[in-house]
Amino acid sequence: MILVFVEHADGRADRVSLEALALAGSLGGPVHAVLVGPGATDAVTSLGGRGVDTAHVVEHEGLSSYAPRACGAAMAELIAAQAPGIVIGPGTERGNEVMAYVGAIAGAPMVANVLSVETGSPMRLTRQRWAGSLVEEATLGASPAILTVAPHAIEAPEAASGAAPAIISMTPTLSAADLASRVTGRIEPEGDGVSLTDAKVVVGGGRGMGSTEGFAILEELAGLLGGAVGGSRVVTSNGWRPHADQIGQTGLRIAPDIYIACGISGAIQHIVGCAASKNILAINKDPDAPIMSRAQYAVIGDLHAIVPAISVEIRRVRGT
Ligand code: FAD
Repeated sequence: MILVFVEHADGRADRVSLEALALAGSLGGPVHAVLVGPGATDAVTSLGGRGVDTAHVVEHEGLSSYAPRACGAAMAELIAAQAPGIVIGPGTERGNEVMAYVGAIAGAPMVANVLSVETGSPMRLTRQRWAGSLVEEATLGASPAILTVAPHAIEAPEAASGAAPAIISMTPTLSAADLASRVTGRIEPEGDGVSLTDAKVVVGGGRGMGSTEGFAILEELAGLLGGAVGGSRVVTSNGWRPHADQIGQTGLRIAPDIYIACGISGAIQHIVGCAASKNILAINKDPDAPIMSRAQYAVIGDLHAIVPAISVEIRRVRGT
């Protein structure tokens, strides 16, 4: 049996977890899902047609907010009871954190950011290293094999028709130490626009924006395209945008239909965050900037002239 840790929000499994389920489904054998915390039962309904036989819904008052070690302890309890051969999680920040706890508690190694798996003894796999700039071939002989799936490396197909999986509820035994680290409050970002990770269009700004105020032209363009605005680490380090807007190795990983990268050089740590974009349009005054080798489209020139001109043209075409 393969056990998959499924992250969820607003009553739905998240995208990278669906990718983890797609990998699990390709390996053969029954697939069980684990969902933790409020909304877990609702989110099980989003797993219909995704090859999940059984969903374990973990309920405990200590899990009403995110508590990584407690999630790991609950998973380890489930692993001891169900004896899965493989345990898979999404390679998100939370997925990697929870699965690291699972490995530590279960006494087995955890392999992060896997790209492909060949079952056997030992299991052969490829995984991302150095923020995606290297692909490592590795073998894993431990049982259970505990791994996370690199975000957006595996396609999650549309759900087939099918009923939601059967639910088994469990209440784990958690200690005070398990709950020592937990979320005690949340500050939501201002604005009610589309999120960077869900946006079909992302407009990103780098050092070339020059200031906080410089982002106004990106906000305008993103607004016209129904997109979201993000940035490089330079802009978050400079305080021009909040850290929540950072794209890259130490920020968010985005996968829009088009990423419009303005005044961004394309350092590998940034590319890690935007490599899953279907198309990249680079706007940069340097024709030799590294981003050019990643971009399908480019406009060479001063972004402060080009970006407003694109917005003007969109309005002209739309007659607004
Ligand atoms: P620069 O590299 O300075 O590039 C600015 C670009 O703007 C240049 O190409 C220039 O030609 C262009 N430009 C300037 N003015 C204009 C103009 N008027 N019109 C058009 N083009 C113009 N970076 C991230 O982005 N995300 C991360 O998560 C991240 N994590 C990191 C983690 C580690 C451990 C380390 C060491 C680094 C990390 N970095 C990250 C930093 C990364 O290495 C780069 O320093 C950073 O991405 C560069 O940001 P930038 O492209 O905005 O700036």
